[in-house]
Amino acid sequence: MKILKFGGSSVATPARIQSVIDIVKPLLATDVAVVFSAFGGVTDSLITMSTLALQGNLEYKTKLNEMEKRHLEAVRELINIQRQSGILAQVKFMVNELEDVLHGVYLVKERTPRTLDYVMSFGERLSAYIIAEAFKDRGHAAEFLDARKVIRTDSHFGYAKVDFEVTNKLIGEYFKHHPEVQIITGFVATSEGGETTTLGRSGSDYTAAIFAGALRATDLEIWTDVDGMMTADPRKVKKAFTVPQMSYEEAMELSHFGAKVIFPATMQPAMVNKIPIWIKNTFNPTFEGTVIHAESKNGKMIKGISSMNGVSLLSLQGSGLLGVVGASMRLFATLARENVNVILISQASSEHSICFAVENASAARAKAAIEKEFQYEIRNEEIDEMPCDNDLSIVAVVGDGMKHSPGTSGRMFSALGKNGVNVVAIAQGSSERNISAVIPQVDAAKALNALHEAFFLSDRKVLNVFLVGTGLIGKALVAMVNEQFAKLAKENRLEVNVVAVANSRKMLFNEDGLPLTTAIDSLVKEGEDMSMQAFYDKMLSLNLPNSIFVDCTSSPDVTAFYEAILSANISIVTPNKKANSSSMEDYRRLKATAFQRGAKFLYETNVGAGLPVINTMNDLLLSGDKVLRIEAVLSGTLNYIFSSFEAGRKFSDVVKEAKAKGYTEPDPRDDLNGMDVARKILILSREAGLDMELSDIVVENLVPATCQGDISIDEFMTRLEKHDADFEALRKQAADKNEKLRYMAVLDGGVVKIQLGSVEGKHPFYSLSGSDNIILLTTERYHDRPMVIRGPGAGAEVTAAGVFADVIRIGHYAK
Ligand code: ADP
Ligand code: ASP
Ligand code: MG
Repeated sequence: MKILKFGGSSVATPARIQSVIDIVKPLLATDVAVVFSAFGGVTDSLITMSTLALQGNLEYKTKLNEMEKRHLEAVRELINIQRQSGILAQVKFMVNELEDVLHGVYLVKERTPRTLDYVMSFGERLSAYIIAEAFKDRGHAAEFLDARKVIRTDSHFGYAKVDFEVTNKLIGEYFKHHPEVQIITGFVATSEGGETTTLGRSGSDYTAAIFAGALRATDLEIWTDVDGMMTADPRKVKKAFTVPQMSYEEAMELSHFGAKVIFPATMQPAMVNKIPIWIKNTFNPTFEGTVIHAESKNGKMIKGISSMNGVSLLSLQGSGLLGVVGASMRLFATLARENVNVILISQASSEHSICFAVENASAARAKAAIEKEFQYEIRNEEIDEMPCDNDLSIVAVVGDGMKHSPGTSGRMFSALGKNGVNVVAIAQGSSERNISAVIPQVDAAKALNALHEAFFLSDRKVLNVFLVGTGLIGKALVAMVNEQFAKLAKENRLEVNVVAVANSRKMLFNEDGLPLTTAIDSLVKEGEDMSMQAFYDKMLSLNLPNSIFVDCTSSPDVTAFYEAILSANISIVTPNKKANSSSMEDYRRLKATAFQRGAKFLYETNVGAGLPVINTMNDLLLSGDKVLRIEAVLSGTLNYIFSSFEAGRKFSDVVKEAKAKGYTEPDPRDDLNGMDVARKILILSREAGLDMELSDIVVENLVPATCQGDISIDEFMTRLEKHDADFEALRKQAADKNEKLRYMAVLDGGVVKIQLGSVEGKHPFYSLSGSDNIILLTTERYHDRPMVIRGPGAGAEVTAAGVFADVIRIGHYAK
């Protein structure tokens, strides 16, 4: 004997019912019985109708009419026209009965749990009836069985408890006299008193297990809308995959903590009778799915991760709790009496508090009942009034393999911590099969994905990049990610998703990653209006794991958000110097926030574009070295200008040429005034451990006094010509000594000076060409000969490459 069960989504439309019939057809000649849920969504809508009626809202009739129409249409589509009328009449008859009940609720404004069970029972009764008729219509020897005839329960409406002794007997007897294939209603049963009960939401799985147990079935098949039991809910974790097999206990833990794919009680009858449970996909029937059986093979530490939203955490606590006799007994007896289902319990060994989780809906009831039970102790201040935290979630990692294998909880909490998920409470069953953590519900999706990554894709990482700034660097970065995407995914198991792009006008988001070839074009065409606040809000609300904010602007409006971004555990990568060159206090605060939150703040490209300057310096300092002196040419633009300024050329012409080639800022004075160099050497000095402000730096401004002030760029260029002779004099003076002009920044003895000077032929700066940068680091270890870092120090490509490298660095850290 085999029992099959098809859930609501498998029978949501007549077309789907037809596919189900096709799946069952080959088995009809064998010993088989089939359990059906209500058509998808019908139970929910029955509950809504009764709620509307209860509220005196006549809308319930509209809903009822829709439901009736849906069932009548199913009959018309599934059954031959000659046989339809009797069946349509029966459906109408049942719907009329339901209407009478709802009318009663409407009139008396009361809906007891008993009435609600009765109302809900119509879903399964209608669906199994219609499907049984559809089988018959195709010439199969099928018969409708209303499970209320054979499943006996107590009168705990909404969650009735099965009397197996009576039920097993009734089922056995019934099947002896009914050789046809039974098409059975899931979910519903009858109390000893003859009233309709239900087995709990999603209880049709349980119905099937009850029949399987009673009939000693060889197999129980639960047919649903996913490829079996998966490593996590595929609706919440896109990368979840099928677990081929697991133990009854593992399945029970996973479903208890929210894996809705199977109802927790289903495992009980199957386990007792050693019946394997297969979870199969109606929409992919040839796929093996999952088998749940007695053993758990394969050495994986954990099998799955589940989560449950809408949880409240309450705790019984107080300085006098230790002395209160039988406190936990009284606590849990009170909860049992109030019919409050306790999902999780956690007690610290100090015995000063016992905390437990319940569904949000029962939190207030639990709190009131317990405060009443302990009113005397509360009055005596032995126990506090009960604190209650709502809107939490529980995430649970489950697997028989975690037993005796250290490291599971380490991995779990490190993944949660790295993603800034605050853990409110923890529980681990002594069976060592499950570790659960109570966390804020807003973080549930992020936590699930981060845990899934940590346990199942530990050699693989997804980075979620939020890019602001689509100028030359931003564009080059997107192109680079696009080029490298496949290789990184394959060789480094790193997937770089660009989730958002924005410029000063527009922003565009796609949680699954924007198509990289079209991202920038789409931004212009489809983007929403940009504001940094809106961008930040959206980024936070997406709450994705391994989020990285990349700032390719030079705007202080963007850096103003850094603190908040790091506080939200989002890492930052940027070539924008504005943050690190603002006040020392801001610089320190950003570093401290990043450190506290475990987020990364990487800005290698603040100095020398893609050259490894800051990381190198950090490595030196970390390994105990000390920076004594820095000598550097840090402006690619100024280096270009001075290396092109040769005999026979006019200084103003060289500046014009640099501007035409796009090497200068739009206003070349922004390069010539030395402030860009000042910001860079300031950052290097700070990285070297100095406490320094921008105002401490002595900068030689190369913009002649007559060219300063509020004049246009063109006017500036014209006025600059008047100073060509001065610059030529400087050049010649140097050339006469066989020296070259260089704009240099020097940190020495804690003092920074930036000035135009000349260097002789032996000096490493002498041969510097184009827009190269050079940094000489004299340290305690590199004392006699300084360390030299030299190479292209400007340009979108090399800067983007440096930004990309920082992003990847975060990827490695996240692993
Ligand atoms: P049915 O209507 O067939 O009873 P359910 O909606 O009750 O189906 O259960 C199937 C759903 O369970 C899936 O669509 C999926 O979203 C959810 N689910 C939650 N956790 C898991 C998991 N670990 N594996 C598979 N599905 C899961
Ligand atoms: N139809 C019921 C529900 O939606 C039972 C089930 O589908 O398993 O809860
Ligand atoms: Mg279900």
